[in-house]
Amino acid sequence: MADLNNVAIDEKIDWSKIEVKPELISRAKKLEGVNEQKLALKISNIDAFYGKIQALRRVSFGVPEGSIVSLLGANGAGKTTTLRVISGLVHAAAGKIEFFDEDITNLSPEKITRKGIIQVPEGRQVFPELTVEENLKIGSYSIKQSNAERSKSLDMIYTFFPKLKQRRAQVAATLSGGEQQMLAIGRGLMGKPRVLLLDEPSLGLAPIIVKEIFEIIKMLNRETGTTILLVEQNATKALKISHFGFVLETGRVTIGDKAEVLLNNEDIKKAYLGGGH
Ligand code: ATP
Repeated sequence: MADLNNVAIDEKIDWSKIEVKPELISRAKKLEGVNEQKLALKISNIDAFYGKIQALRRVSFGVPEGSIVSLLGANGAGKTTTLRVISGLVHAAAGKIEFFDEDITNLSPEKITRKGIIQVPEGRQVFPELTVEENLKIGSYSIKQSNAERSKSLDMIYTFFPKLKQRRAQVAATLSGGEQQMLAIGRGLMGKPRVLLLDEPSLGLAPIIVKEIFEIIKMLNRETGTTILLVEQNATKALKISHFGFVLETGRVTIGDKAEVLLNNEDIKKAYLGGGH
């Protein structure tokens, strides 16, 4: 019998077919600030453009310290653009981004990285000619670290990703897709992030590898307390390890709630395998 849990990983939600109930929208608005918790990131009313094309429209949501927040939505909804605005790679034409109450809107990417916001880009982008360990060390140069701190970080990453330890001397080009994704996350961790921005870590990977990577992300969050903003199309898998979820549709946040509430939402469930997930 098919493993429904694994099948669901590859199913994409067609958000345009989901009728969004007004109460969910109002919950999304309330959750923008996730008021009762200290926010690592507060995104308020962000607009962003590529030339004349508006990619984000008054995007607002909060990422509580120590949590995993999923940003979900279809292709082209604006998920990657949101991450790029946070990390300073795309200009915010309007709105505000706060990092632990400090206004960081439109600071340079270098300054934002140094503050501890590190993006792991979509498509992994490891250095193919360099070894696993050299790739990891590159991640540590975004902030000042002593050699002792660097080797402590390496040990920590090898604990989370034993496969990388086995392959530390291997060039990255010869790693599997899953191992490259682990390397990309590990490289991000070498910069000691306070907030890790993960752009579609499941992209192009087999369900079993996706499961492994999501388990590691969950463990990382639990063991190190690193705040994680996770962009994903695999909504079920992402929500299962998240505390909160926000849905972007054509540049707007339309749904926001605790992950468990979204997972049990009938409208969202209906988009999966005729009701199951
Ligand atoms: P995907 O899951 O496909 O990565 P996404 O939700 O991350 O999608 P974005 O990549 O943020 O979406 O794209 C949002 C909108 O901005 C889309 O309409 C896209 O075509 C447009 N866009 C993204 N990058 C550029 C660019 N460099 N130049 C012009 N338009 C762009």
